[in-house]
Amino acid sequence: MNLHPAYRSTRGGAASVSFEDALLEGLAPDGGLFVPEAIPALPSSWRSAGSFPEMALAVLDRWIGHEVPRDVLAPLLADALSFPVPLVPLRGGGWDGVYVLELFHGPTLSFKDFGARTMARLMGHFLAGRQETVTILVATSGDTGSAVADGFAGQGNIRVVLLYPAGQVSPTQELQLIVARPGVQALAVRGTFDDCQRMVKEAFVHEAAARLRLSSANSINVGRLLPQMLYYVWAVHQGGFERVHFCVPSGNLGNLTGGVLAALGGLPVGRFIAAHNANDFFPRVLAGGAETYRASVRTLSNAMDVGVPSNYERLRALLPVEELRRRIWGTSVRDEETLAAIRRVRAETGYLADPHTAVGLEAARRYREATGDVTPVVVLSTAHPAKFPEVLREALGVEPEVPEQLARLRGAATSVRSIEAGTEHLLEHLPADAAARA
Ligand SMILES: *Cc1c(COP(=O)(O)O)cnc(C)c1O
Repeated sequence: MNLHPAYRSTRGGAASVSFEDALLEGLAPDGGLFVPEAIPALPSSWRSAGSFPEMALAVLDRWIGHEVPRDVLAPLLADALSFPVPLVPLRGGGWDGVYVLELFHGPTLSFKDFGARTMARLMGHFLAGRQETVTILVATSGDTGSAVADGFAGQGNIRVVLLYPAGQVSPTQELQLIVARPGVQALAVRGTFDDCQRMVKEAFVHEAAARLRLSSANSINVGRLLPQMLYYVWAVHQGGFERVHFCVPSGNLGNLTGGVLAALGGLPVGRFIAAHNANDFFPRVLAGGAETYRASVRTLSNAMDVGVPSNYERLRALLPVEELRRRIWGTSVRDEETLAAIRRVRAETGYLADPHTAVGLEAARRYREATGDVTPVVVLSTAHPAKFPEVLREALGVEPEVPEQLARLRGAATSVRSIEAGTEHLLEHLPADAAARA
């Protein structure tokens, strides 16, 4: 059992670093992703923990306890992970033995809240020690932007500038992005998501921005990865399972990688089911295909519209491809099948699934049908159905009830600036005092 791993690059061309450096740097200097050099075993206390944050503390203490003292980590996790994580058994139809783990009860109603909130507080802790200020730049078209903005808002040494393509996100998503938050500037870019991403990338290497300490908070940061192990452990704890399969609606494969880390640490996982939409790179590889990337296509489950899943490189660094194929079963669900799954699950069990969760439920159903395997399956529910009223209206003719987190936003103060596409326009909006203090 190795406690407190260092982090190496997936590309092998850089020295190993501490968790603190991996967190603050995001990407290794050779362009690779940071992976732990060893996987700490789960502490035996995970089965007896009294609450989610208590279990999270026991698990993460083994990963980062030498860098973040327990008396800092305990309140940090209690604050970051302060929302419920219910495990809901489905009943009816052929669904007995299928459970939904609802990861959408955080402030921005998607599973991204776990990673973003924990990462923000860990960064805040390390930066306070260094007396540094950083500016986080994020280009977003979906859940990441609002989770990051909400997670980092009010963290003393951190500013967030988030860019999104004007007119190309849903009204609900836009409201979640532009609600006024301390330390957060939203920029509506008159361009596409690709323009936003290019502006962020160029700002990182621009000389005018060199005096700013810029950082990123995308899904490849280890600070988002480690918290994404925790709810897998909590699901097994709640269900009391001897052995269980996990079905994960996937895009960049960060969520799934969190589960693989938990399994390598000793969580009794049988198989993972990788549930993808029409963007099917990973299911093709798992079925024995070549590692050929295709451009992403737009689907109803838009947070999973990823042509090149960035965490695939990390999964391959953790396990050889044959081992990935043995442990993970993959499938690709098209939009009409997603709508049919929303209807089928609603009719057979009464459960209301958002389009991402519906991809997962359909994948779990296919797995059980294809294999006859009756091991319990936990399907991760990655977003609240109220984030996608348009899709649910199309599938069922009804709109989901609006949860309190969204209702609160209606009528709240908003703050957004509209800018042209182009890196020079972004540079004008980076906080000047951050530059002075860095
Ligand atoms: C980000 C996201 C996903 C995909 O997660 P990855 O870690 O990128 O695989 C799935 N569902 C929702 C709702 C998301 O926001």
